[in-house]
Amino acid sequence: MKFDVNCVFCKIIDGKIPAYKIYEDNDVLAFLDVNPVTYGHTLVVPKDHYVSFLSTPKDIMNKVMNVAQRIGQVQMEQLGAKGVNILINCYEAAGQVVKHFHVHVIPRYESTDGFKLEMKDLKDVNLPQVLEKIKID
Ligand code: AMP
Ligand code: ZN
Repeated sequence: MKFDVNCVFCKIIDGKIPAYKIYEDNDVLAFLDVNPVTYGHTLVVPKDHYVSFLSTPKDIMNKVMNVAQRIGQVQMEQLGAKGVNILINCYEAAGQVVKHFHVHVIPRYESTDGFKLEMKDLKDVNLPQVLEKIKID
């Protein structure tokens, strides 16, 4: 079991801090975000402490994503959500505050329901150059 004594999500997994748990199995825990951006905002985490989505082993990452998909479906069916945002912040520059991999499952009701992901166009980007740098096999 990978555990970080200073990690708030490890403390929830360990039962040291309370949480509104909506799903649990051997590898994955899902609970309500304590500061929800919309009604039903849920976090899905691996029980082992991995800092980021990018550093989580594939099998564990897949288990977390499977649960996130199910929760998104349930939010649509049971909460009457009209859509869902799946959000993963990787590292501080991307807004990650808690350094334990987590998936935000954010049910959406209308575009003005409290959550806004702003995407601004970057002008004058050399797309062929970018492609050269990050193309993968
Ligand atoms: P992030 O910015 O992606 O690291 O998001 C961390 C999320 O964890 C935030 O939305 C917080 O509201 C949430 N959070 C922090 N502490 C707790 C807690 N004890 N129980 C539930 N959610 C929490
Ligand atoms: Zn942790």
